[in-house]
Amino acid sequence: MPARRSPRSGTPRRVATLSVHTSPLDQPGAGDAGGMNVYIVEASRRLAARGIEVDIFTRATSSDLPPVVEMSPGVTVRHVSAGPFEGLGKEELPAQLCAFTAAVLREEAQHEPGYYDVVHSHYWLSGQVGWLARDRWSVPLIHTAHTLAKVKNEALAVGDRPEPRARVIGEEQVVAEADRLIANTDEEARQLVRLYGADPARTLVVPPGVDLDRFSPGDRAAARRAIGAPADALVLLFVGRIQPLKAPDVLLHAAAHLLDDDPGLRSRLRVHVVGAPSGSGLEAPEQLHKLVAALGIADVVTFFPPQPPDRLAEHYRAADVTVVPSHNESFGLVALEAQACGTPVVAAAVGGLRTAVRDGVSGVLVDGHDPRDYATAVRSVLSRPELLSAGARRHAGLFSWDRTADALVAAYGSAAEEMARTPQPVRPLAFGPLRALPGVQVAR
Ligand code: UDP
Repeated sequence: MPARRSPRSGTPRRVATLSVHTSPLDQPGAGDAGGMNVYIVEASRRLAARGIEVDIFTRATSSDLPPVVEMSPGVTVRHVSAGPFEGLGKEELPAQLCAFTAAVLREEAQHEPGYYDVVHSHYWLSGQVGWLARDRWSVPLIHTAHTLAKVKNEALAVGDRPEPRARVIGEEQVVAEADRLIANTDEEARQLVRLYGADPARTLVVPPGVDLDRFSPGDRAAARRAIGAPADALVLLFVGRIQPLKAPDVLLHAAAHLLDDDPGLRSRLRVHVVGAPSGSGLEAPEQLHKLVAALGIADVVTFFPPQPPDRLAEHYRAADVTVVPSHNESFGLVALEAQACGTPVVAAAVGGLRTAVRDGVSGVLVDGHDPRDYATAVRSVLSRPELLSAGARRHAGLFSWDRTADALVAAYGSAAEEMARTPQPVRPLAFGPLRALPGVQVAR
């Protein structure tokens, strides 16, 4: 078998970051843009601050986009032409991966050999591209899944569509090929090993962070003025892409229970829903509006479009409680950002939310999705707001994007060193031996 060039060990000079299906330049909170976009932006900035250049490849979704955009010093976004600019859904992107990969390889081929030291792919679609780039460039493939189909399918919300088999197979392939898998939490690492057969030695836990300068406690009264909420209101906040997985309906039902139990609350209660439709939840906003009307709570619920980060921080500061009732989250950055602003969180005890929120210290974790339990949890938070607010700030303070970036640099370095130490034969493809179909000759 041909030997491959040894990768450069030590701290990389340049990383090719792959984000096929969503751009770091998109506003999170709608469509396919969410925590992964924030992760890539924040981690890339920190890597650049450590002297590592980051090129982020993402699919061009409009003819207006320049091919190359400097996102911040040392971080470049490269728009790749792969399929029609508009109108392609995420489920149609597997057919564009060859075009995307070709564009990435051609871009690299314009530079001196060994231009990229590492390829870091985000989400399985990018992992498919990264897998080939890894083999062509002889550099380690670092992969962050962000969400896993098998995990998502185990916790489907009513009305949500299961993730297709093609994604499951694609994820299995990427898990088998990656030199390092980056998991957000211990639980995600265990899921990668248990459900996908990942090698534990190549599976690392790197918690995401939160920008503590941007998401910081502030004057609640001023925040309420800024977003137009009454000073004496009791504000419950939902932030996120509107989709069945995120279960904003659970919060609405919980609000209705709070009003049933204490009708006097109606003059003060405000439920703020920040975000826009996404994926299989495209129909959700209309359903949510119908639900609000059916529950008779239209007078207390306000919908806000996706908010840029500084404005979002005002929403967190204005809230008494942020509620994250998701059926699954690989982490749940919203929970961390709210706590960094000093707002306790009521969250479902699922996935990464069990790490993002400390039950009884920074908020309350709720088993299951019974709205009554969320109403009870909200009341429990409101009975000790100062204590939980202090706990929330302390807990959020344990996370930082600088720590995430340091851990990524260490992962890049160790993967490259391992590659340099071990002779790297080109791996055989993961197909069985060629077998003739009846009546068909196999050429040898
Ligand atoms: N977000 C935002 N504006 C919005 C709603 C959300 O900037 O109006 C951001 C939010 O700050 C967070 C991310 O989107 O960083 C959502 O990440 P999370 O992990 O909570 O959920 P995901 O989108 O990954 O499912």
